[in-house]
Amino acid sequence: MNKIRGDIHYGDLYKDGAVVRKRREWRGLADTLYDYSRWLGIMLILAKFIVVPRNIKAMLRYRWMANYLAVPMMVDRHTQGLRGEYLRICHTEQDLIIDDVAKLLNNLFRGDRRIGNDTEFSKKVVLVDENEMTAVMMGFPTLKGLSRETPSTYVSVLLNQHAAVHYIDIAQQFGLAGDVCPMPEAEAGVSIEGDAPVLGACAVQCNTTCDGSLLSNGVISRRLENVDGIPVFQLAAPLRHREDDVQKYAAQEIRNAIAFIEEHTGAKWDWDYYFECAKRVNYATKCRLEWLEMNKTPWPQVFGSNLALYTETNYMAICGKIPAFEKADRKISKLAEQAYKKKKMAAREYRHRAIIWGVQSHFYMDFLVWLLNCWGIVPLTDMLSMVSTRQLVTENTPENREQAYYDMAWLTENMIMRNRTHGGYKVLLDELWEYTQEFNADMVILWEHMSCKALDGMHGMFEERARELGIHLVWVSHDLFDPRIISRQGVRDQINNYMRTVMQEEPVDPSLEILHDEESW
Ligand code: SF4
Repeated sequence: MNKIRGDIHYGDLYKDGAVVRKRREWRGLADTLYDYSRWLGIMLILAKFIVVPRNIKAMLRYRWMANYLAVPMMVDRHTQGLRGEYLRICHTEQDLIIDDVAKLLNNLFRGDRRIGNDTEFSKKVVLVDENEMTAVMMGFPTLKGLSRETPSTYVSVLLNQHAAVHYIDIAQQFGLAGDVCPMPEAEAGVSIEGDAPVLGACAVQCNTTCDGSLLSNGVISRRLENVDGIPVFQLAAPLRHREDDVQKYAAQEIRNAIAFIEEHTGAKWDWDYYFECAKRVNYATKCRLEWLEMNKTPWPQVFGSNLALYTETNYMAICGKIPAFEKADRKISKLAEQAYKKKKMAAREYRHRAIIWGVQSHFYMDFLVWLLNCWGIVPLTDMLSMVSTRQLVTENTPENREQAYYDMAWLTENMIMRNRTHGGYKVLLDELWEYTQEFNADMVILWEHMSCKALDGMHGMFEERARELGIHLVWVSHDLFDPRIISRQGVRDQINNYMRTVMQEEPVDPSLEILHDEESW
């Protein structure tokens, strides 16, 4: 077991109603120095980004760019309470993701007609939907698959809880319904306001994740095609993705998408590159499955936001295309094994083992860290991290090329959110209870995203089964990207009430129970 050095009352670090905290966390000499060196590293990435004149221009042009000032604060939230290997795992992941997002922004602004206007570069860009696996780009080494929604909405809300509010309002002023999921709604709002960089030879949108996402894709593609003159392919992946009879159709959709990209960019699909990327996807899957195996024991090592945020990025945006993620996978596995051998713990006390299910509140991703530090609830795994388990074919043979279309279809159909919110109650309901047994969990924290129609209909069925199995089921309502509906404290209160009234427990760290962080990033 590891000894926790330095601060142990993390709530004391918050300033009531302020954007930033009182001071940095003290973690003992070695860990504080390490954390500080990583903080300097992040500042260096930001400094390198901002010295490029076109990025300054973009900072002044796009409202959502201001959220990137909060990058160091976001990392501090996710590293809260972490020491030793856990702190190093977190920085390995977060620093790499920050670097990757900085490169994405750089590329977007380079090709953006309003900013860099590099037309030759723009011809090599394929815009990809944020809500899709980027599997159809795994065979195009000379092209860049760039998502505009990832930096403008998805990452922005992780950085600043209020980031999407303006764009949600814009979409509603335009006439979109108020009960649409705030994620696609904010993405539509960015497009309606003309706040998305304009570039690319073509775009590929996907019907993942749901009806809300389809609505926003409709709005965005209309602007792309009719205003910006960028042709859009609609990749329609089957919703009943576990059924054998839909797979032939799913593979054909992948062939069609690839042919569309070839037609509009002039690039040719490269099988060698595809199989190289497939090997890296396999390695990511192998590592993640090993981490999950550890999490089934009393000494989980890669869990909470260390598992969730990294998995989302690694599968969705990366999909084997960036070798640095393979290196990070290796390093994380090494650190996890090291800590596992020593039976280390990431917090002072583990009281409950929980599976986190449903779609998480995006403006409060560090909730998982809070859960551990405040109540000793270990978030062993979460719904979005239970993604692909399959090994893709990796040898370049004629038979494998045929199978590869099915593998890409499999990845696309299993996009991290829709692989559970669609596909029947086996994937959403039955497998949850299987996981509670496998992971020896006594608790399920069930995010109830009030605008997610895919999940809300099954409320009673979740309760019935939890009762039968004797699992503590804690509902946590939220509205994904919109903290005005349920705030961070509103989220915490639902856990606090359950833990005090039903479980009759006192918090491990009472200073975290109530935080006045409504105004904070
Ligand atoms: S959270 Fe639900 S409603 Fe929102 S995009 Fe995902 S599946 Fe759709």
